[in-house]
Order: sequence, then structure tokens, then C-alpha cells
Amino acid sequence: MIIKASSITACKACRSTDLTWHTTNVNRSGIQEGRLRSGDVECLFFLGCELCSETLATVSADRVASLMNSQPVQPKADTDAVNPVAMEICVREGEFFPLNLSQQVWYGENPKVMQIARFAGQEMTAIADDSGAFKLDYMGHVVRGFSSIEEAKSAAPELARAVLERLRNLIQDV
Ligand SMILES: [Zn+2]
Repeated sequence: MIIKASSITACKACRSTDLTWHTTNVNRSGIQEGRLRSGDVECLFFLGCELCSETLATVSADRVASLMNSQPVQPKADTDAVNPVAMEICVREGEFFPLNLSQQVWYGENPKVMQIARFAGQEMTAIADDSGAFKLDYMGHVVRGFSSIEEAKSAAPELARAVLERLRNLIQDV
């Protein structure tokens, strides 16, 4: 019924397409105004023409509620729809594959100026910038303003996760 009502696109009286849903409370009990209790009043949804005020459809609130309850739950867009286990992902063998090298271990010849470590196999650099502060650079993403290289390094795991999450969200289904 509501599906039929929602398919109405034009006023049957004046052909206007300016139609709006409203609600109204009606007294169907026969009890006079002023003596009504809330249970004597029924809420109705109605589709009205804004131009000529014609009522084009009426749906009881109970009917709307039951239709809302019977709506199938829409599965949210699930980025895990493809089960990675089913894809049988495996890590390439060999010592030169980035994930087989040491992870989150900082190295570099001048520890007070520049350090490098791998996070999830990808290199991150902690380095002093021109202003005397330190910055992190990970897969083309830079965060500046650390007061020391140690402070930068302690923020590195969080940056790595944030960048990977950002990159993940850039990938669209085709
Ligand atoms: Zn009309």
C-alpha cells in the first residue's frame, strides 16, 4: 500500500508534482474535543498536494511502523566481502621481500638526524627538517612538528596504521 502511495508523482486534481508527506492526528472515537485521551486519537500520514491541498494518499502510523519493521536490513557495504582466506594469500619467500626483513627496527648512521624503519614492510623515515623539528615520512605521507626524533619515532606506529587505513579507503570496487 505504501509502495503504491509512494509511487504517486503528480496530483490527480491539478497535475502538480509539488507533493509532500505530512502527519495529522485525527479523532475517530466520536468523543468530543477536550475530553479526548491520547488513545482516542490516531496518527495518519498523508500525501498532500502543495498547490491545491488535495489529499492523494493516507496511511496509518501503525501501517508505516509495520512497514518500517518489515524492511529487510540492508547489509552495510562490507569491505571484507571477499574473504582473504579464500584468496589464499601467502607471503613471497626470499630474504629480499620487505616483510621478511626486520620490522619496526630503526637504523641509520646519524641517529640524531635521521632514522629509518620498516612498518608493514614499507619504509618510514624520521628526519630533522629545516625548522629544527622532526617529521615522519611514510609512503608519501608526511607528519611534521615533532620536537625530537624520539617523539617522532613513538608516533610512527600510529602513522603507519593511519596511512594504511587511508590507502585502503582509496581502493574502490570495480
Ligand atoms: Zn493538486
